[in-house]
Amino acid sequence: MNALNFIGGVFVEAHDGETLTNINPATGEEIGRIARSNKEDVEAAVQASRLAQNEWSALTLLERADWLDRLADGLEQRKEELAQRESKDTGKPLALARRVDAQRSIDNFRFFANFAREQEPEVFEMADATNVVHRKPIGTVGLITPWNLPLYLLSWKVAPALLMGNTIVAKPSEMTPLTANLLCEVASDIGLPSGVLNVVHGYGPEVGQAILEHPSIRAISFTGGTATGRHVAATAAPKFKKLSLELGGKNATIILDDANLDAAVEGAVRAGFTNGGQVCLCGSRILVHQSIADQFTTKLVESVNSMMCGAPEDASTHIGALISMEHLQKVESYIELGLEEGGTVLTGGTRAMTGQVGPTQDGAYLRPTIIDGLDPSARTSTEEIFGPVVTLHRFDSDEQAIQIANATEYGLAGSIWSTDTERAHALAQKIETGIVWVNTWLHRDLRTPFGGVKNSGVGREGGAWSLGFFSEPLNVCIKHD
Ligand code: NAD
Repeated sequence: MNALNFIGGVFVEAHDGETLTNINPATGEEIGRIARSNKEDVEAAVQASRLAQNEWSALTLLERADWLDRLADGLEQRKEELAQRESKDTGKPLALARRVDAQRSIDNFRFFANFAREQEPEVFEMADATNVVHRKPIGTVGLITPWNLPLYLLSWKVAPALLMGNTIVAKPSEMTPLTANLLCEVASDIGLPSGVLNVVHGYGPEVGQAILEHPSIRAISFTGGTATGRHVAATAAPKFKKLSLELGGKNATIILDDANLDAAVEGAVRAGFTNGGQVCLCGSRILVHQSIADQFTTKLVESVNSMMCGAPEDASTHIGALISMEHLQKVESYIELGLEEGGTVLTGGTRAMTGQVGPTQDGAYLRPTIIDGLDPSARTSTEEIFGPVVTLHRFDSDEQAIQIANATEYGLAGSIWSTDTERAHALAQKIETGIVWVNTWLHRDLRTPFGGVKNSGVGREGGAWSLGFFSEPLNVCIKHD
C-alpha cells in the first residue's frame, strides 16, 4: 500500500515523483512506497491550508466539535483496518494496535469534541468593566510526530488543532505513514472541507525542516526524540513560533518496601515492556527497596520469561518486532554497553527466539531484557534506550530512591508502588517529572496535563492545555457606562 500526500483534499505524489520504501519490521518486507516530499510539497500544503482557513475558522466551536465526532465515527467504522495498518507499519502486536492505538485515536477525537461542549465562556468581572477572553485560531499549524504510536499521537494533536479553528500541515514519521493516510481517507469520505487537514510525507530534515522554517506556520507541536526536539527549538524559536515539545524519557518505576509485590511486578512489567518498551512513558529503570529486592527480582524475571515475543498477528504475542533493524541494533548496542559498564543480564539480551512463536530472521525481534548491577549513573541507566530493556537498581531509603529517580537529564513520567498512598503521594512530589502514577501506569484522564520537564520537553498537552496551545487568547475589556 502506497502513501501519497494529502494536500487540498486530494491524494498526490511528491511533486518530483520521489518515493521512499516502507518496510514491515516484523518481516523485513517492503509493504509499499511513501511520497518523499520536500519544501515545494510543504509550500503547496501551506497554500491549501491558508485557502481553507477563513471557512474553517468561521465555524463555531460546537460546529467544529461535530466535525471531530464525524472523524471519530469514520475511524470507528474502519477500526480493524486502522489496527492492521498500524501493526504492519510498526511490527507491534495486532491485539495491542486494536486495544491501544486504534481505540485511543478514536477516543482523542471524541474526547475533544465533548470537552469543547463543556467549555464555559471566560469572563472576568471588575467593578467598572467586564473582560471577555476570545480564543482565536493561530492559522496554519505544523504537527510533527514519531513512529511509536503513530495515529494515537497524531490525532492527539489534530483534534484540538482543528477544534480551535486552525488548519493543519502534518508530517507523520517516515516509518509509519499508513494510518495518517487512513485519517485523510476518512476526512475525504465525510467531506471535511478541503485544505483543512494536509499531510506531507517524507524525511525529517526535508519535510520537517520545511515545516519548521515556513513563515506562514506560526505554531509547531512536535513529539519525538530530545535531540530532534533541540533542533526544532533552535530553528523555530528565533522565528517566535509557538512551540510544544514532547520529547524523550527515562522513567523510574519505584517499588517501596510496603508495596503489594504481585501488583508491583505486574505494573513494572507493563511499564517496562508495553509496545516493546517503545513508549516515551515506559518505566525503563526499576528501583526496588533493598529489603524486598531479591523476592521482587525473582518474580520479575519469572514474569518477563513468560512473555511471548512473536509475530504481531499471533494472539499470544506480548512483544512484537521493534520498529526497524537499525533501531534493534541501537538497542543491542546499549545491552553491550550495559555489560561493559559492569551490568549482568538477568534475562533476554538476545535475538534468539527459542521456543517462542513466529519471528522470522528478517524481523527486528529482541527478547525482553533485564540488566542488573549497574551504577545508577551509568550511561545504560540514564540514557533513553527505547526498547524492551530495563535496568534494575536497589535503594535503602525514600531519599535515595528520589535521588536515583532524578539522576537523568529526562523528567517525563514515573510510577510509585506502595500500600501507603499518602507516603507515595508525598514522594511523587519530589520527583522532577511531569506525571507520576501511584499503583498504576499509563492510566490516562485526557483532561489532565501531559508533558515533561528538563530534557523531556516544554509545555503540556491534554484538555485545556491543548486548547490553550492551539489558540491565541484575545482579551476584550469593556468599560461599564
Ligand atoms: P525522531 O525525533 O527521530 O522523529 C520524530 C519526528 O521528527 C519524525 O516525524 C521525524 O521525521 C521528524 N524529524 C526528524 N528530523 C527532523 C528535522 N530536522 N526537522 C523536523 N522534523 C524532523 O523520534 P522518533 O525516533 O520518531 O521517536 C522516538 C522518540 O520520540 C523517543 O525519544 C520517544 O521518547 C519520543 N516520544 C516522546 C513522546 C512524548 O509524548 N513525550 C511520545 C512518543 C515518543
